[in-house]
Amino acid sequence: FLQIQGIRKEYGPVVAVHDVNLDVRRGEFLTFLGPSGSGKSTTLYILAGFENPTKGDIKLAGTTLLSTPSHQRNIGMVFQRYTLFPHLTVAENIGFPLKVRRKPRAEIDARVREMLRLVRLEGFEDRKPVQMSGGQQQRVALARALAYDPPVLLMDEPLSALDKKLREEIQYEIRRIHQQTEVTILYVTHDQEEALRLSDRIAVFSKGVIDQIGTGPELYANPATRFVAEFIGDSN
Ligand code: ATP
Ligand code: MG
Repeated sequence: FLQIQGIRKEYGPVVAVHDVNLDVRRGEFLTFLGPSGSGKSTTLYILAGFENPTKGDIKLAGTTLLSTPSHQRNIGMVFQRYTLFPHLTVAENIGFPLKVRRKPRAEIDARVREMLRLVRLEGFEDRKPVQMSGGQQQRVALARALAYDPPVLLMDEPLSALDKKLREEIQYEIRRIHQQTEVTILYVTHDQEEALRLSDRIAVFSKGVIDQIGTGPELYANPATRFVAEFIGDSN
Protein backbone atom coordinates (compact mmCIF):
# COMPACT_ATOMS: atom_id res chain seq x y z
CA PHE A 1 0.00 0.00 0.00
CA LEU A 2 2.72 2.44 1.07
CA GLN A 3 6.05 1.44 -0.42
CA ILE A 4 9.44 2.78 0.53
CA GLN A 5 11.93 1.68 -2.09
CA GLY A 6 15.67 2.00 -1.67
CA ILE A 7 15.53 5.31 0.15
CA ARG A 8 18.83 7.02 0.87
CA LYS A 9 19.31 10.46 2.40
CA GLU A 10 22.60 12.30 2.62
CA TYR A 11 23.15 15.62 4.36
CA GLY A 12 26.54 16.60 2.97
CA PRO A 13 28.92 13.97 4.32
CA VAL A 14 26.32 12.59 6.77
CA VAL A 15 24.32 9.62 5.57
CA ALA A 16 21.13 9.84 7.65
CA VAL A 17 19.38 6.98 5.84
CA HIS A 18 21.43 4.35 3.99
CA ASP A 19 18.97 2.09 2.27
CA VAL A 20 15.46 1.69 3.61
CA ASN A 21 12.95 -0.65 2.00
CA LEU A 22 9.51 -1.21 3.43
CA ASP A 23 6.08 -2.26 2.28
CA VAL A 24 3.41 -1.01 4.66
CA ARG A 25 0.08 -2.77 4.41
CA ARG A 26 -3.16 -0.85 4.18
CA GLY A 27 -4.56 -0.26 7.66
CA GLU A 28 -1.41 -1.45 9.34
CA PHE A 29 0.07 0.05 12.50
CA LEU A 30 3.81 -0.05 11.91
CA THR A 31 6.31 1.33 14.39
CA PHE A 32 9.87 2.51 13.82
CA LEU A 33 11.90 1.59 16.86
CA GLY A 34 15.59 2.35 17.18
CA PRO A 35 18.21 4.44 18.92
CA SER A 36 18.75 8.15 18.53
CA GLY A 37 20.24 9.08 15.16
CA SER A 38 19.23 5.85 13.39
CA GLY A 39 17.20 7.61 10.68
CA LYS A 40 13.62 7.20 11.90
CA SER A 41 12.58 10.84 11.67
CA THR A 42 14.41 11.40 8.39
CA THR A 43 12.43 8.55 6.83
CA LEU A 44 9.16 10.10 8.05
CA TYR A 45 10.17 13.55 6.77
CA ILE A 46 10.72 12.04 3.34
CA LEU A 47 7.25 10.44 3.43
CA ALA A 48 5.74 13.73 4.57
CA GLY A 49 7.50 15.60 1.77
CA PHE A 50 9.58 17.85 4.03
CA GLU A 51 12.76 16.36 2.60
CA ASN A 52 13.60 14.79 -0.73
CA PRO A 53 15.58 11.55 -0.77
CA THR A 54 19.00 11.48 -2.38
CA LYS A 55 17.97 8.19 -3.96
CA GLY A 56 14.94 5.89 -4.04
CA ASP A 57 11.18 6.23 -4.39
CA ILE A 58 8.04 6.20 -2.27
CA LYS A 59 4.68 5.06 -3.60
CA LEU A 60 1.15 5.26 -2.23
CA ALA A 61 -1.28 2.81 -3.84
CA GLY A 62 1.16 2.35 -6.71
CA THR A 63 1.76 6.02 -7.52
CA THR A 64 4.98 7.84 -6.73
CA LEU A 65 4.63 10.57 -4.12
CA LEU A 66 7.89 12.34 -4.81
CA SER A 67 6.42 14.73 -7.36
CA THR A 68 3.45 15.58 -5.11
CA PRO A 69 3.92 18.57 -2.80
CA SER A 70 3.67 17.89 0.93
CA HIS A 71 0.25 19.48 1.49
CA GLN A 72 -1.33 17.45 -1.33
CA ARG A 73 -0.14 14.05 -0.13
CA ASN A 74 -3.15 13.30 2.09
CA ILE A 75 -0.83 12.33 4.89
CA GLY A 76 -1.54 13.53 8.41
CA MET A 77 1.35 14.12 10.76
CA VAL A 78 2.37 14.80 14.31
CA PHE A 79 6.04 15.57 14.65
CA GLN A 80 8.34 16.39 17.55
CA ARG A 81 9.09 19.79 16.11
CA TYR A 82 5.82 20.22 14.30
CA THR A 83 4.44 23.63 15.12
CA LEU A 84 0.87 24.75 15.34
CA PHE A 85 -0.22 27.87 13.52
CA PRO A 86 0.69 30.52 16.12
CA HIS A 87 -1.87 33.09 15.01
CA LEU A 88 -4.80 30.64 15.19
CA THR A 89 -6.64 29.50 18.29
CA VAL A 90 -6.69 25.88 19.40
CA ALA A 91 -10.12 25.33 17.84
CA GLU A 92 -9.02 26.99 14.58
CA ASN A 93 -5.87 24.88 14.48
CA ILE A 94 -7.79 21.64 14.90
CA GLY A 95 -10.44 22.67 12.39
CA PHE A 96 -7.97 23.97 9.82
CA PRO A 97 -7.52 20.75 7.78
CA LEU A 98 -11.31 20.44 7.58
CA LYS A 99 -11.73 24.07 6.59
CA VAL A 100 -9.30 23.80 3.69
CA ARG A 101 -11.29 20.75 2.58
CA ARG A 102 -14.41 22.92 2.59
CA LYS A 103 -16.35 20.97 5.19
CA PRO A 104 -19.52 22.63 6.50
CA ARG A 105 -19.15 24.83 9.58
CA ALA A 106 -21.39 22.64 11.77
CA GLU A 107 -19.41 19.53 10.90
CA ILE A 108 -16.13 21.29 11.69
CA ASP A 109 -17.42 22.53 15.06
CA ALA A 110 -18.68 19.09 16.03
CA ARG A 111 -15.44 17.41 15.02
CA VAL A 112 -13.34 20.01 16.89
CA ARG A 113 -15.37 19.40 20.05
CA GLU A 114 -14.94 15.65 19.67
CA MET A 115 -11.17 16.00 19.21
CA LEU A 116 -10.83 18.38 22.18
CA ARG A 117 -12.57 15.80 24.33
CA LEU A 118 -10.27 13.10 23.00
CA VAL A 119 -7.11 14.94 24.04
CA ARG A 120 -8.71 16.28 27.26
CA LEU A 121 -8.48 19.95 26.31
CA GLU A 122 -12.10 21.04 26.65
CA GLY A 123 -12.12 24.71 27.63
CA PHE A 124 -8.91 25.50 25.77
CA GLU A 125 -10.54 26.21 22.40
CA ASP A 126 -9.91 29.96 22.39
CA ARG A 127 -6.29 29.88 23.57
CA LYS A 128 -3.35 30.54 21.31
CA PRO A 129 -0.50 28.00 21.19
CA VAL A 130 1.91 30.32 23.09
CA GLN A 131 -0.48 30.23 26.05
CA MET A 132 -0.10 26.48 26.42
CA SER A 133 2.56 24.05 27.63
CA GLY A 134 4.58 21.90 25.24
CA GLY A 135 2.57 18.80 26.10
CA GLN A 136 -0.71 20.62 25.59
CA GLN A 137 0.49 21.87 22.21
CA GLN A 138 1.44 18.34 21.29
CA ARG A 139 -2.08 17.19 22.12
CA VAL A 140 -3.51 19.92 19.89
CA ALA A 141 -1.24 18.75 17.06
CA LEU A 142 -2.48 15.21 17.62
CA ALA A 143 -6.11 16.36 17.60
CA ARG A 144 -5.52 18.27 14.38
CA ALA A 145 -3.91 15.28 12.67
CA LEU A 146 -6.72 12.95 13.69
CA ALA A 147 -9.51 15.43 12.91
CA TYR A 148 -9.35 15.15 9.18
CA ASP A 149 -9.22 11.40 8.89
CA PRO A 150 -6.25 10.98 6.55
CA PRO A 151 -5.58 7.57 4.96
CA VAL A 152 -2.01 7.69 6.27
CA LEU A 153 -0.86 9.14 9.56
CA LEU A 154 2.78 9.72 10.51
CA MET A 155 3.58 10.19 14.19
CA ASP A 156 7.05 10.98 15.47
CA GLU A 157 7.13 10.43 19.24
CA PRO A 158 3.77 12.16 19.63
CA LEU A 159 3.46 11.32 23.33
CA SER A 160 7.02 12.02 24.47
CA ALA A 161 6.18 15.22 26.35
CA LEU A 162 3.21 13.77 28.22
CA ASP A 163 3.05 12.29 31.69
CA LYS A 164 2.53 8.56 32.08
CA LYS A 165 -1.19 8.62 32.79
CA LEU A 166 -2.10 10.83 29.86
CA ARG A 167 0.31 8.93 27.63
CA GLU A 168 -1.48 5.68 28.41
CA GLU A 169 -4.89 7.24 27.86
CA ILE A 170 -3.91 8.64 24.51
CA GLN A 171 -2.19 5.38 23.50
CA TYR A 172 -5.51 3.73 24.14
CA GLU A 173 -7.31 6.35 22.04
CA ILE A 174 -4.82 6.01 19.20
CA ARG A 175 -5.36 2.27 19.22
CA ARG A 176 -9.11 2.72 19.26
CA ILE A 177 -8.98 5.17 16.35
CA HIS A 178 -6.74 2.77 14.46
CA GLN A 179 -9.17 -0.09 15.00
CA GLN A 180 -12.23 1.95 14.07
CA THR A 181 -10.84 3.53 10.91
CA GLU A 182 -8.88 2.26 7.94
CA VAL A 183 -6.00 4.57 8.73
CA THR A 184 -2.48 3.32 8.06
CA ILE A 185 -0.15 4.49 10.82
CA LEU A 186 3.61 4.89 10.87
CA TYR A 187 4.70 5.60 14.41
CA VAL A 188 8.11 6.42 15.85
CA THR A 189 9.03 5.71 19.44
CA HIS A 190 12.01 4.91 21.66
CA ASP A 191 9.73 3.05 24.01
CA GLN A 192 9.68 -0.72 23.45
CA GLU A 193 6.64 -1.23 25.63
CA GLU A 194 4.69 1.38 23.71
CA ALA A 195 5.78 -0.24 20.43
CA LEU A 196 4.62 -3.66 21.61
CA ARG A 197 1.32 -2.33 22.89
CA LEU A 198 0.37 -0.45 19.73
CA SER A 199 1.96 -2.08 16.71
CA ASP A 200 1.01 -4.73 14.22
CA ARG A 201 4.66 -4.82 13.15
CA ILE A 202 7.85 -3.17 14.36
CA ALA A 203 10.74 -2.08 12.12
CA VAL A 204 13.98 -1.95 14.08
CA PHE A 205 16.23 0.84 12.80
CA SER A 206 19.98 0.83 13.19
CA LYS A 207 22.38 3.27 11.55
CA GLY A 208 20.12 4.21 8.65
CA VAL A 209 18.87 0.74 7.76
CA ILE A 210 16.07 -1.50 8.99
CA ASP A 211 17.69 -4.45 10.73
CA GLN A 212 14.50 -6.46 11.03
CA ILE A 213 10.73 -6.15 10.61
CA GLY A 214 8.20 -8.32 12.38
CA THR A 215 5.57 -8.54 15.07
CA GLY A 216 6.75 -7.93 18.62
CA PRO A 217 6.65 -11.64 19.53
CA GLU A 218 8.57 -12.53 16.34
CA LEU A 219 11.31 -10.06 17.15
CA TYR A 220 11.57 -11.38 20.69
CA ALA A 221 11.59 -15.02 19.64
CA ASN A 222 13.87 -14.71 16.60
CA PRO A 223 15.99 -11.58 16.62
CA ALA A 224 17.87 -11.42 13.30
CA THR A 225 20.88 -9.65 14.76
CA ARG A 226 22.54 -9.15 18.07
CA PHE A 227 21.52 -5.50 17.86
CA VAL A 228 17.81 -6.39 17.62
CA ALA A 229 18.14 -8.85 20.48
CA GLU A 230 19.77 -6.27 22.70
CA PHE A 231 17.55 -3.38 21.71
CA ILE A 232 14.25 -5.25 22.01
CA GLY A 233 15.37 -7.05 25.11
CA ASP A 234 16.50 -3.86 26.84
CA SER A 235 13.44 -2.88 28.80
CA ASN A 236 14.25 0.55 30.12
P1 ATP B 1 16.00 10.45 17.38
O1 ATP B 1 15.50 9.18 17.98
O2 ATP B 1 17.07 11.10 18.20
O3 ATP B 1 14.91 11.38 17.00
P2 ATP B 1 16.25 9.57 14.59
O4 ATP B 1 16.35 8.09 14.46
O5 ATP B 1 14.94 10.20 14.35
O6 ATP B 1 16.79 9.98 16.04
P3 ATP B 1 17.22 11.25 12.46
O7 ATP B 1 16.67 12.52 12.96
O8 ATP B 1 16.53 10.63 11.31
O9 ATP B 1 17.35 10.18 13.65
O10 ATP B 1 18.74 11.49 12.10
C1 ATP B 1 19.58 10.53 11.45
C2 ATP B 1 20.97 11.08 11.29
O11 ATP B 1 20.95 12.15 10.34
C3 ATP B 1 21.58 11.67 12.56
O12 ATP B 1 22.93 11.33 12.58
C4 ATP B 1 21.38 13.15 12.39
O13 ATP B 1 22.39 13.87 13.07
C5 ATP B 1 21.48 13.34 10.90
N1 ATP B 1 20.66 14.47 10.41
C6 ATP B 1 19.31 14.58 10.51
N2 ATP B 1 18.88 15.74 9.96
C7 ATP B 1 19.98 16.38 9.51
C8 ATP B 1 20.21 17.63 8.84
N3 ATP B 1 19.19 18.44 8.51
N4 ATP B 1 21.48 17.95 8.54
C9 ATP B 1 22.51 17.12 8.85
N5 ATP B 1 22.37 15.94 9.47
C10 ATP B 1 21.12 15.56 9.80
MG1 MG C 1 13.71 11.50 15.51
